[in-house]
Amino acid sequence: MAAEDGRKKVVILGSTGSIGGNAMDVIRRYPDRFRIAALTCGRNVSRLMDQIAGLDEKDRPLLAVCEREKDAMLVKSNFPGIRTSFGPQGLIDAAELPADVVLNALMGMRGLVPTYHAIRTGHDMALANKETLVAGGGIIMDAIRDSGVKMLPVDSEHSAIFQCLEGNKGKKIRKILLTASGGPFRGWTREQLETVTPEMALKHPNWSMGRKITIDSATMMNKGLEMIEAKWLFGVPIEDIEVVVHPKSIVHSAVEFEDTSILAQMGIPDMRIPISVALGYPDRLAMDLEPLDLFGKASELTFERPDRETFGCMDLAVSASSEGGTMPACMNAANEVLVQAFLDRKIGFLDIETGIRRAMEDHSVIRDPGLDEIVGADRETREKVLESIPE
Ligand code: NAD
Ligand code: MG
Repeated sequence: MAAEDGRKKVVILGSTGSIGGNAMDVIRRYPDRFRIAALTCGRNVSRLMDQIAGLDEKDRPLLAVCEREKDAMLVKSNFPGIRTSFGPQGLIDAAELPADVVLNALMGMRGLVPTYHAIRTGHDMALANKETLVAGGGIIMDAIRDSGVKMLPVDSEHSAIFQCLEGNKGKKIRKILLTASGGPFRGWTREQLETVTPEMALKHPNWSMGRKITIDSATMMNKGLEMIEAKWLFGVPIEDIEVVVHPKSIVHSAVEFEDTSILAQMGIPDMRIPISVALGYPDRLAMDLEPLDLFGKASELTFERPDRETFGCMDLAVSASSEGGTMPACMNAANEVLVQAFLDRKIGFLDIETGIRRAMEDHSVIRDPGLDEIVGADRETREKVLESIPE
């Protein structure tokens, strides 16, 4: 449902985060192409109000959503012409607004329910929120097929794979080559990892991102989550997804076809590119960014196998995926809680992996779960894992 003036109407769930801010930058470059229908934030209401104030009055969103009611009231008092809403229902309200595409840039499992509603309403999805597919990939991809809408990946690796597959519909994929930077602790031993503090883990070598995904990159759980994300998005068995450590983050991922050809997508590590590919689809938008210098940083590209013993989270994700049912939702919930506990200095870096393993061992899997059962498994795991964390 394009705006009356032919512009694409975009809902941004999580506009105040790292992906959300980059998306606002892409949209600002193309005022003639995009119109923002709704913006949502967690607790960063001042950033949300700055984002609204930065738009021309006629281009302001119809709806603004905050996590807390008092923040939504603050937005209303500053911008009386804008409808406001709050909490989990507010995210659903935003997802169901008349729009062309919903960009889900929320962090964590809270993105699942609004994504489901957006798809059922008939909106194309630009999905950055990988936890949604980890926890509920089966029901989300079924909903995509039933509603006949598009799923446009924003995660850089999945955007790369999506681009490699354009023009190759129906061709058999031999392997997906999912690249990984290896994070800040590539080459470290388990013993060294015991000493990791939040400050050390929050320094990612190539990307500036939200705190949770930055820790996931340091444990390599991010790559485990991305393997499951790729399995659902591209319908490839997890055994055919190979993680390739490529420290410079220039090749964003690749696809190997039956004739042994490998198609890869390269570019500077800047999330505005995959965001523009998703929002601009099927067009490719001109982006005024520094081009990739093949004779500079990209002159030597290296690839190595991941160290799966030292970084055990990747294999936890593979076994959760193979187990299926509610197990990936359990794994994801445990990871979210334990990463926060590590950031709060309540547990050590390696306790994240140990705690996820324990939660998975304790979990009774429900097969072919519906949305409610997935949400239930997530809640139950969170409660159990929280109980195990020292105050
Ligand atoms: P972030 O933490 O920077 O932003 C998260 C957004 O969610 C913010 O707008 C925040 O206000 C909102 N939010 C948090 N709690 C909320 C709540 N209770 N209710 C409503 N809104 C809430 O995260 P990010 O780095 O932008 O990542 C977002 C998603 O994109 C994650 O799933 C991440 O894995 C994925 N991703 C991020 C990057 C990146 O470069 N940052 C790259 C690839 C994929
Ligand atoms: Mg990624």
